Amino acid sequence: MALSSSTLLLVKSHLSLSSFSNPSLYFRRGETRLRVRPISLSIINARADERKEDIVIVGAGIAGLATAVSLQRLGIRTLVLEQGESLRTGGTSLTLFKNGWKALDAIGVGNDLRSQFLEIQGRCFSWLMISLGIRLENHWFIFEEYPGICRLAIKSEDGRELRSFRFKDEDESQEVRAVERRVLLETLASRLPPDAISFSSKLANIERSENGETLLELEDGIRISAKILIACDGIRSPVAKLMGFPEPNYVGHCAFRGLAYFPEGQPFEPKVNYIYGKGVRAGYVPVSETKVYWFICYNSSSPGPKITDPSILRQQAEQLVRNWPTELINLINLTPDDTIIRTSLVDRWLWPSISPPASTGSIVLVGDAWHPMTPNLGQGACCALEDSIVLTKKLAEAIKSKRTSVEDAFKAYGSERWPRIFPLTVRAYLVGALLQWDNPVICAVRDNIVVPKLVRLGPVLEHTNFEFDPL
Ligand SMILES: Cc1cc2nc3c(=O)[nH]c(=O)nc-3n(C[C@H](O)[C@H](O)[C@H](O)COP(=O)(O)OP(=O)(O)OC[C@H]3O[C@@H](n4cnc5c(N)ncnc54)[C@H](O)[C@@H]3O)c2cc1C
Repeated sequence: MALSSSTLLLVKSHLSLSSFSNPSLYFRRGETRLRVRPISLSIINARADERKEDIVIVGAGIAGLATAVSLQRLGIRTLVLEQGESLRTGGTSLTLFKNGWKALDAIGVGNDLRSQFLEIQGRCFSWLMISLGIRLENHWFIFEEYPGICRLAIKSEDGRELRSFRFKDEDESQEVRAVERRVLLETLASRLPPDAISFSSKLANIERSENGETLLELEDGIRISAKILIACDGIRSPVAKLMGFPEPNYVGHCAFRGLAYFPEGQPFEPKVNYIYGKGVRAGYVPVSETKVYWFICYNSSSPGPKITDPSILRQQAEQLVRNWPTELINLINLTPDDTIIRTSLVDRWLWPSISPPASTGSIVLVGDAWHPMTPNLGQGACCALEDSIVLTKKLAEAIKSKRTSVEDAFKAYGSERWPRIFPLTVRAYLVGALLQWDNPVICAVRDNIVVPKLVRLGPVLEHTNFEFDPL
């Protein structure tokens, strides 16, 4: 393990300790996986074996690495603690929309990634026409290709076509690419100094030390005293739990995901293909010349046991779409073991006046740690990237100009981001609920009225309009 000390003396923070004064703020839920103690009750003395750091980021996921790289660009070093032995190498892909790409450009890695991943031209909505008494198996899809336009016809009882879209027809500036998570993480990490990430460093406990800093205790006993803690530790964030956030809510759907590999080249057009059924929906999108990302989302009353055996995952995924177009089954079969996963979908609504703020003193949450949202809009990672840039600007301003305290900078970040995040979280949930309906009557309304007559791609993707000032 390589732990580094940040060399810059950066911070003149005016940290308020008042927010530490209510232990219940940190322990709304009884059950914890961590050795958690109320911060206000355990003001501890500095110890000789503590490592001193100015800024510690917990989590080398998208939010953590993007924040570290953004701060690095402004000359501010951080130490990133990651519980894993390495960056997450498995996993599948993420669809990034133009707001995500603008953020990656601001961070300086946009073009490196663009060159590796296909730009998606269009989006096909292939809705199963499920009417009362019509079985799923009775429906077939016919894809018809026209130059530059992805067209889909659904043959069903009445033979109606629902919708097809082309991104650039609706918004010339839209940019959509599916990006391999592994490559995204590696690209971000490559912009950091070699000793910036400390792997196998699982945060186990945090306390307030007597000098107002945050004392981090790692699972292996290492102790680090940090002036600033940026928690990017994902949906099960221990730090969010300590700050009083409840566990994310399971929304009643699970998703299989995979990254199919075609060594001789994949055969698909650069399009997102969605196939929606009754309580089940699936999709696939080419990522690169040899890889295709696919997903199957299905209703389930509980998340069920964690399954890691790829053959069982593959079997269960196939079962869900066994009578659907054969492309999906082929994709599942061509998916290497380490890129097929099943995830239960969760979110957490940041209710005004009820949810804790994004920061307390010099501790702040970024990305899924603060606002887990369902993937129905493809915005979780995009928003984590946005967060990192907004936070970086505010923190750098506080550190460099000293006109604002770090605490106020974090509060300003929370205030600026909340109106963006909360509606998106709700909207993503509602879209998921709409798409996962399995009631035949509601599906008929969805398929006969909502999708063909009401849905417009422009407004649906309006949330991807997000502007950044350069870092
Ligand atoms: C099925 C599905 C599909 C999705 N599709 C999309 C999409 O198409 N587009 C999109 O924009 N988003 C998508 N998302 C959302 C996206 O995956 C997340 O929003 C994104 O990964 C959040 O990044 P993060 O860095 O906040 O958290 P994470 O990626 O979860 O990273 C957290 C990191 O913290 C580390 N960590 C956790 N606890 C500790 C600890 N105690 N000590 C040290 N390290 C710790 C973890 O190991 C991990 O590396 C999808 C999500 C799901 C579930």
